[in-house]
Amino acid sequence: MSEAVRYSIVVPVYNEEEVILESYKRLKTVMDSLKEPYEIVFINDGSRDKTSFIVSEICETDKNIKFIDFSRNFGHQVAITAGMDYTEGEAIVVIDADLQDPPEVIPKMIEKWKEGYDVVYGKRLERKGDTFFKKFTAAIFYRFLRSMTDVDIPVDTGDFRLIDRKVCDALKQVNERNRYIRGIISWLGFKQTGVEFSRDKRFAGETKYPLKKMLKFAFDAITSFSYKPLKLASYGGMMLSTLSFVYLVVVLATRLIAQGTTPGWASILAVNLFFNGIMLIILGIIGEYIGRIYDEAKGRPLYVIRELKNFDRDKKSGRSR
Ligand code: UDP
Ligand code: MG
Repeated sequence: MSEAVRYSIVVPVYNEEEVILESYKRLKTVMDSLKEPYEIVFINDGSRDKTSFIVSEICETDKNIKFIDFSRNFGHQVAITAGMDYTEGEAIVVIDADLQDPPEVIPKMIEKWKEGYDVVYGKRLERKGDTFFKKFTAAIFYRFLRSMTDVDIPVDTGDFRLIDRKVCDALKQVNERNRYIRGIISWLGFKQTGVEFSRDKRFAGETKYPLKKMLKFAFDAITSFSYKPLKLASYGGMMLSTLSFVYLVVVLATRLIAQGTTPGWASILAVNLFFNGIMLIILGIIGEYIGRIYDEAKGRPLYVIRELKNFDRDKKSGRSR
C-alpha cells in the first residue's frame, strides 16, 4: 500500500492536447522537489482532441497521476468540483492546465498552509498575454461583484489556490449547480490569505473561455451571491411611478390652467418602447434566477464519469448528487 497522499493537485483540462504534456512535466518537477507523497488529478472535461489519450498514457507510467474522464463537457467549475471530490491529500491545489498559473508558486502556497492558513489563494499582480478586453472586463466584473454582495470575495483572484482538507470536506457539502467556486470558498470562511504572482501567457492553444462562457460564469457568480438585481424592479418601479405622477400633475395643470394640450404620438411611442424594454430586461433578470432554481429542483447529478484511472478501488469517493 502506498503512503498517505499529502498534496493533491487538481487540473481541469478541456481540449488541451498542446499543453498537457508540458504542464505535467512542470508540475512533476515542482512536486518531486517537495519530497512528500502527492497525486495529480487530471479531469478531462469532455475534450474532443487527444487530451484523454495523452493523460491515459501518462497514467500508465506514473502512478501519482490520476484521471477522471467525464462523459461530456460539464464546464470548468464542475471539473474542479469532481477533482476535489476524488482527492485524498491534506492540502489540495487547483491549477489551470495552460500554465498561466505557474506551478512554481505552489511551494509558496504550501509554506503559508504550514503557517496555519486553511485557504491560500493566488492573487494576480499582472496578467501577461490576456487581451485588453479580458483584463478590462475582469477588473470591472470583480469590483462590480464585490459591490453586489456581502460575502468578502477577494478581487483579482482566480481558482488557482490551495485549500486544506477541512475546506475541501466542507465544499463537498455544497451541492449547488451553477457554481462559482471561488465565491463559495470565501463564503465558507476559514483562515484565508493570498500569495501574489504574475499570470503568464497561455503556453499554447486558445482560451477555452469564449465570451459566451464568460458571460454565463459572470451571471452564475452574481445570481449565486446577490439578490440585488431582483431589487432593480422594485426600486426602478418606485422611481418611475413617482416621476410619472409628477408629470401627470404637470399635464393636468397645463390642461386646466393654460387650457393647452401637449401634442405628439411620437413621444408616446418612444416612452412606451423605452419602458417596455426596461420591463423585458427585468423579466430577463428574473428568468436568470428562475432557470437556476429549476436546475436545482431537477437535482440531476453534477457530473457523469466515463472512466477513472489509477484510483484505489476501495478509496473511490465522489458525491451522491
Ligand atoms: N476548462 C475546462 N472546461 C471548460 C473550459 C475550460 O475544464 O469548459 C479548463 C481549461 O482546460 C483550463 C482551465 O479550465 O485548464 C482554464 O481555461 P482557460 O485557460 O481556457 O481560461 P482563461 O485562462 O482563458 O480564462
Ligand atoms: Mg488560461
